[in-house]
Amino acid sequence: MADAFDCIVGQPQVREFLRATTANDRISHAYLFAGPAGSNKTQAAYAFAQAILCPKGAKGPRGGRCGACDACDKVMRRKHPDVRYFAPEGANGYLIEQMREMVTDASMAPIQAKKKVYIIDRVDQLGTSAANAFLKTLEEPPGNVVFILLGRTCDGVLPTILSRCQVVPFRHIPASEAAGIVAQNTGASLLHARIAIEACGGSISRAIEFLAAGSARMEFRKRVLDTLERLRHCEDWDVVGMAADLIKAANFPLDAARQQFEQELAQNQDFLAKSALRQLEARQKRQITAKSSECMRQLTAIIRSWIRDVMMICSGCSDLVINQDVLPALQAAAQRATLPSALCALRAVDECEASIAYNVSPEACIDALLFKVKEVIS
Ligand SMILES: [Zn+2]
Repeated sequence: MADAFDCIVGQPQVREFLRATTANDRISHAYLFAGPAGSNKTQAAYAFAQAILCPKGAKGPRGGRCGACDACDKVMRRKHPDVRYFAPEGANGYLIEQMREMVTDASMAPIQAKKKVYIIDRVDQLGTSAANAFLKTLEEPPGNVVFILLGRTCDGVLPTILSRCQVVPFRHIPASEAAGIVAQNTGASLLHARIAIEACGGSISRAIEFLAAGSARMEFRKRVLDTLERLRHCEDWDVVGMAADLIKAANFPLDAARQQFEQELAQNQDFLAKSALRQLEARQKRQITAKSSECMRQLTAIIRSWIRDVMMICSGCSDLVINQDVLPALQAAAQRATLPSALCALRAVDECEASIAYNVSPEACIDALLFKVKEVIS
C-alpha cells in the first residue's frame, strides 16, 4: 500500500527507518538528515512532517500517513502553518535574529495540528552565535515540536548541534538515477530532467520545482543559452545590455514572491501588533534577498553547464554533453575554444559566484563573466 514515504525515492533505508519510527510512535525531537546535494533530503523532510502531523497518526494503515487528508495535502503543498521551513538569510549563513524568531515561534502552540515541525535547511551554515541562540530550545524543546535539520555532512555541523540530534544518513544518488526521479515526478523527458538538475546545483527537489507546470525556468534557461550563443558576434556595448537582461530574467520569480508578501502583510495588518508587523516585514526582506541570490546561482549554474559542455566537446566526449538540445551551438563554440581557455572561463564562473556572495553588484559580476566567455569563444 502506498504511503507518504513512497516519495522518498532513491533512499530505501531512510524510508524504512522513518516508517518504523512513525509506526512505533518513537518520534524524537530532533533529527539531522545528512547527505550530499541531490540526495532528496528536503522531500524526505516534508514526507516525515506529513507523517507527524497527519491526524490519522499511527493508527492508520502502515503506521498512518494517509497522504490524502487536508493536513497531508497542506504539508505536501508546503502551505501547512505548523510546518515551517528555514534557510540561511544572511550572506554568510543563518542570522541570529532568524534563530531567535524560530525559538519564539517554537514556544507557541500549534495552529492546526497537534505538533509543529521545523525544517532547517543547510544547517552547515549555522555559525556559533546563531547556533547559541537556538541550543537551549534544541536541547529541551517544547513537547510538541520536532526539528528536522538538513546538512550535507555531519562534519560540517557544529558538534553542539550534532550531539543533540538523531542522525539519519542519506546516500549519494547517482546522476542517472536522479534524472529518473525528476522525470518520474514531473513527466519531463530524461534530457530535461538532467538539464534541470544541472541548473539547480544537483538538487532534486529544486529541479522538480524548476520543471513544474507554470514555471518559466526552462524558458529562462533557453534565454541564457541563446545569449551565450550570440556572444561572439556582439559588440562590447551589447554585452553590457545582455548582462542586465539576463539578471532581470533571472530575478523574474521575485515579482511573484513580492506580491505574495504584500498580500501576507495586508492580511495581517489588522491582527498583528506594530512590532510583529515590522518583524514580518524584516523577514520578508531577508527572504527576498535570499531568493535573489538563489536566482543568481541558477543563472551562473546554467552558464557553468554550458562551458562544461564546451569542454566535453573539446576533449572528444560529446556524449557527456548535458545541454544536448543546443549541441550545434556548443560545437561551434568548441571549435574556437581550447581546453585551457574554457577552464579559465569555468574559473571565472566560480569567481563570479564568490563575488556575488560577497555583495558585489550582480550586474558588474555577470558583465565580467560574459566578457570572459566571449573572449574564450571568439
Ligand atoms: Zn493525512
